[in-house]
Amino acid sequence: MTTREGNLLAPTRHPLDWKNPEFYEQGAIDAELERVFDICHGCRRCVSLCQAFPTLFDLVDNSKTMEVDGVAKSDYPKVVEQCYLCDLCYMTKCPYVPPHPWNVDFPHVMLRAKAVGFRKKGSRPRDRFLTSTDRVGKLATIPVVVQMVNAINGNPAVRKVMEKTIGVAAEAHLPPYDAARFRDTVRASIAWPVRNGERTPGKVALFGTCYVNYNEPSLGHDLVRILEHNEVPYRLVEDEVCCGMPKLEIGDLESVAVLKKRNIGPMGALMRVYPRSSVALSTPAFAASTCARADRWADTALSSSAWLMARSAASGRYRLTSMSAFESAASARPSAPFASASLAR
Ligand code: SF4
Ligand code: SF4
Repeated sequence: MTTREGNLLAPTRHPLDWKNPEFYEQGAIDAELERVFDICHGCRRCVSLCQAFPTLFDLVDNSKTMEVDGVAKSDYPKVVEQCYLCDLCYMTKCPYVPPHPWNVDFPHVMLRAKAVGFRKKGSRPRDRFLTSTDRVGKLATIPVVVQMVNAINGNPAVRKVMEKTIGVAAEAHLPPYDAARFRDTVRASIAWPVRNGERTPGKVALFGTCYVNYNEPSLGHDLVRILEHNEVPYRLVEDEVCCGMPKLEIGDLESVAVLKKRNIGPMGALMRVYPRSSVALSTPAFAASTCARADRWADTALSSSAWLMARSAASGRYRLTSMSAFESAASARPSAPFASASLAR
């Protein structure tokens, strides 16, 4: 086991002990936040990644001691609420991730703090609404309703009201809904012969995700075109619900567990038939991958980009022309279990 700082190996991720009552003890989470914040304050490598780190460093720099011990514990949530669990700091930046003895897993500490906050205070109605992406997506993509919803979301006056009432910034981009849902419009695969790659299976199961199903089906259709072009047979996972990422972001772990249970059945059935055959589209399939890890399927659920990168590297037949820095970096880690998809046309 290596303990040196920084390497290209996949970091170790310890599962969250979220069913243990100690997990929710305020004193324990405060102590862990202080420990990790102190390491980050001494390092500051992630300052440009998101607003969580500048918020932390401003709190430290403006405190009396200019150290983490000068920051009021009541201000810790200001850092936590800025983390949207993208995992970038953990996957690509931090040299102190496990197995390093400092055991810094910043997103997991944020997630634990979110879960503690959720258990104490619950969630606001607006958060419950906004994180029910599957339910909202199904309603918002009904013909006629979809035109109304998109018109309302695009109206500056309505957006001002939304900002005042539910706190959604008027200038924030709200992706329009698409009545032609991905699951309803994806065409069936041609029965190409299955040709396994060196590092990838020769057939693919697609887990669409809410964003692709309801907001941007073209992402899914682009992937299908790539698969067709390369004569890779594919199929949709028979049934899917939200992967749970929005619920994870508000610390609602019980809801994530329910969603996991719904998804794991159909995905598991396919994985047993086609080992390492699942591809998740769109946003980081964090929760889906968490499910996969929890069920020891870490090597079976791959993002579309991770799958294509692996096949590309092995065969030279695949070329991606549009990948975000995050995808490239995350996919560069062997066995990176999740990354977002931004597919070349
Ligand atoms: S997980 Fe992403 S959003 Fe959260 S602190 Fe790390 S880089 Fe920032
Ligand atoms: S998460 Fe790691 S790399 Fe980022 S600031 Fe903290 S200690 Fe440094």
